[in-house]
Amino acid sequence: MAEKPQVVVIGAGPAGLTAAFELVKRDVPVTVLEGDAMVGGISRTAEREGWRFDIGGHRFFTKVPEVEALWHEILPDEDFMMRPRMSRIFYDGKLFDYPLKAGNALGNLGILEAIRCVLSYMWVRVRPPKDQTKFEGWVASRFGWRLYDHFFRTYTEKLWGVPGSELEADWAAQRIKNLSLFSAIWNALRPGRNQKDITSLIEEFQYPKYGPGMMWETAAKKVEAGSGHIVLEEKVRTVHWEPGKGVVGVTTVVTGGYGPGAGAPEAKRTDLGAEKRYDGDQFVSSMPLSSLLQSLDPKPPAEVLTAAQSLKYRDFITVAVVVPESVGFPDNWIYIHSPEVKVGRIQNFGSWSPYLVQDGKTCLGLELFVSVGDETWTKSDDDLLAQAKRELEILGFAKPEQVERGFVVRMPKAYPFYDAAYKGNVDVMRRWMEENTPNLHPVGRNGMFRYNNQDHSMFTAQLTVQNIVDGTHHDVWDVNVEEDYHEAASPTSSSEPKAGLPEDAAVA
Ligand SMILES: Cc1cc2nc3c(=O)[nH]c(=O)nc-3n(C[C@H](O)[C@H](O)[C@H](O)COP(=O)(O)OP(=O)(O)OC[C@H]3O[C@@H](n4cnc5c(N)ncnc54)[C@H](O)[C@@H]3O)c2cc1C
Repeated sequence: MAEKPQVVVIGAGPAGLTAAFELVKRDVPVTVLEGDAMVGGISRTAEREGWRFDIGGHRFFTKVPEVEALWHEILPDEDFMMRPRMSRIFYDGKLFDYPLKAGNALGNLGILEAIRCVLSYMWVRVRPPKDQTKFEGWVASRFGWRLYDHFFRTYTEKLWGVPGSELEADWAAQRIKNLSLFSAIWNALRPGRNQKDITSLIEEFQYPKYGPGMMWETAAKKVEAGSGHIVLEEKVRTVHWEPGKGVVGVTTVVTGGYGPGAGAPEAKRTDLGAEKRYDGDQFVSSMPLSSLLQSLDPKPPAEVLTAAQSLKYRDFITVAVVVPESVGFPDNWIYIHSPEVKVGRIQNFGSWSPYLVQDGKTCLGLELFVSVGDETWTKSDDDLLAQAKRELEILGFAKPEQVERGFVVRMPKAYPFYDAAYKGNVDVMRRWMEENTPNLHPVGRNGMFRYNNQDHSMFTAQLTVQNIVDGTHHDVWDVNVEEDYHEAASPTSSSEPKAGLPEDAAVA
């Protein structure tokens, strides 16, 4: 290996760009290969007709000092804002404060229903659900069937696309630690309640003025200004390795971006379909772990391929609509628990940043949790916009004529799906790489099949660069494994919906 290794990074999302940024700081030559026509990955800020909006909304919050420092190294302080956090739950035609306040909760549920919920809770104390290995039984055993039906069932099924009786209880056990809504209802109802138990979720987070994409667009410029080069619209199709040597190179195919449906601007490349080869000494990959293992040439053993093919994901669509500012709401987002609509959450980007509103107009993001190829994913943009207008009207948020225009962004593999087999499958792949391709370093969220936020995605990349260049031996797979630490330590680091409830307390 040369004194300074030639590094190839796959993907220009937060993890890939962090790796490149850290390498450039050490003056190491690096080529970043990005399949799309823009940088930022899931943390991009899409731009259409002058409107900027996130894939979800991306809060910047971390307990990792190295990541916090890097954010401020990339963007000057004046580009960051501190924003207040607010979100509510829309259920049964009403908005529930979150965290719940006794008066608001009782008024919304009604005293009779509140009593029924308590009785239902008492019933499961006597007759616990038989199967508590699944999400439904786990939650019902702790909160009663009535609360499960009101607040967990619909949202879970929207988010994961499977009944709660098929989701692993792990989800609940790991993610729903601070069941704030339900603790709050319980606290609100039981005598001698102590509202101080409920952590206030109206907190602040950092947010770049023009969205998270601003961070990644700036990082990309800084990489290009140093020893790095970013190649857009080239997707890695084949990863070449040799026994005893590890990975020696990758072959890309010119994609022309993933198209406007991905929220990327017009593709610029004209050599569509052309193949290019990039050789190197070290390879950092933030492409989905399952695709990485399937791209290997020669193929790994059948057991490894089967593990790769078994990983599942949940996909995501945002329908961003431009409406009068008066239609907006003060919340950053509202969880939509109503079963009569498909939308799972609605963002008001005007509440994220005043720089994202224009001339008395704001942009709302209607979020749909989908699976690639399903009936919603395959709808035309026009049909999705029509559905968004219809659902805004059903919910009483806006009339169709108030929607001035709309844009659709599709994001495949937005969420790793933790099924019963995922851990074993990831271990099989990891073990094989450690033995056969030690110079191939998976990083980031899909790269490691980890429910990582930006900060942990970035941190895995920072540690990997230290391992490659500085000779450290960090176990990158240890980042974000300690859920206890993570959830307790960073209660507001994400706006991601996790398990099937309007959580903000449990993040990853
Ligand atoms: C709805 C939602 C809300 C979220 N909210 C927050 C939040 O509030 N705060 C927070 O910190 N995090 C949040 N996250 C998580 C955050 O988006 C991710 O942690 C982060 O983007 C992961 O970075 P990454 O670089 O690992 O992966 P990605 O962002 O997925 O980037 C990977 C990149 O690799 C490229 N790529 C893939 N395959 C190939 C290939 N074969 N060849 C070349 N390039 C390829 C992709 O195009 C992409 O650009 C949220 C996520 C979602 C889905």
